[in-house]
Amino acid sequence: MVKKTVRAIEVRGQRVLARLDLNVPLDDHDRITDDRRIRAALPTITHLLSGGARLILMSHLGRPKGDPTADKRFTLAPVAARLAELLGRPMAFVSDCVGPCASDAVAELGNGDCCLLENLRFHKAETIKDSKAAANPALGEAKTSFARELADLADVYVNDAFGTCHRDNASMLTVPQLMEGKARVIGFLIEKELKFLGEALAEPARPFVAILGGAKVSDKIGVIDALRSKCDYILIGGAMTYTFMGAEGVNVGRSLCEPDAFDTARRLRASAGDKLRLPVDSVVAAELKPGVETWVCDGAIPDGALGLDIGPRTLNAYAEILSNAGTVVWNGPMGVFETPPFERGTMEIAHRLAEATDRGAITIIGGGDSAAAVDQAGLSDRMTHISTGGGASLEYLEGKPFRALEVLDDA
Ligand code: AMP
Repeated sequence: MVKKTVRAIEVRGQRVLARLDLNVPLDDHDRITDDRRIRAALPTITHLLSGGARLILMSHLGRPKGDPTADKRFTLAPVAARLAELLGRPMAFVSDCVGPCASDAVAELGNGDCCLLENLRFHKAETIKDSKAAANPALGEAKTSFARELADLADVYVNDAFGTCHRDNASMLTVPQLMEGKARVIGFLIEKELKFLGEALAEPARPFVAILGGAKVSDKIGVIDALRSKCDYILIGGAMTYTFMGAEGVNVGRSLCEPDAFDTARRLRASAGDKLRLPVDSVVAAELKPGVETWVCDGAIPDGALGLDIGPRTLNAYAEILSNAGTVVWNGPMGVFETPPFERGTMEIAHRLAEATDRGAITIIGGGDSAAAVDQAGLSDRMTHISTGGGASLEYLEGKPFRALEVLDDA
């Protein structure tokens, strides 16, 4: 998928509507606790501003229920303040993304000026799925008229919201559909994400190793299916382990396990054969609490106990495979990395990846918890690429089409 980028268009004097993913975590005092997504959007913003665009930024934040007065904590105002700080210039903040205040704010923009619209998800129409809109004309009308108000603000549409590309939100899909005939392009962040994820899949340096962890097999079926023919190894960790073990009739104690996914687990294991590697030991405890007593179990977990991390023999086996990997894609932690001492497996894997990068391997972190874990290990700048979209990168690896990108102009 080769899409036209902001580099290829003339924006001087044009009203440019840029959909970004500025969905950053905030603490109880509205302070941004991690501004990586804002920083990741800066190259596109500065490029458009220096090109003389009249720039209108839009994003979602969190999951408000569509009522701004009840959901004030989801305001993008702190994001506007941080953007102003990082850009070293004022950032006008518009208290609604549509309506007269939005059109008035846009009318006031001069060349090289910029404003940020309030949270798109303060309007329920933003997240109406196309399937629901097709089945219910009133919902379809609401989504289209909301999208039309946004589309009417601008002459050019830019999508740089990689983390939301797998969704059919109004601002992601309906707006560019309505702007047919105008320039509709991607920004630098999406260009970079597609380059790394796309190249990893198209022509991976081998051995190509996928590390898949996290809570549920059911969330990762698609990606295991898609990667099984492309990868040389799929290393499993996290609670998924216990669904695979349970499916073989091995005792898993009170570990997180999905009996509903046993059939799927057996099928995946049979179809992936020797490529799929499961943990051979686990770090277990009687309860999930910081600092509790732990021990290591080979195979079965005793009744009453919980498997909460991969064990040392598993780490050695995985480290050996990673020591000569050419490409590594990692999605999902190896254990409950948020609760010490169960972070060890995840942190050790992060270190093995950093070493692999140093040796010249391509290492790609699929966003979400794995990105947080690499950050926790202090190793973020020793990975080739850390995706800004957990769900989006997973769907990309699964080979699912992104309609929000398909609708944009080809290069
Ligand atoms: P996911 O969103 O599927 O990638 O799952 C991430 C979550 O899985 C994290 O919050 C981890 O704490 C959790 N997790 C990983 N390993 C385990 C485990 N052995 N038992 C329970 N939860 C786990």
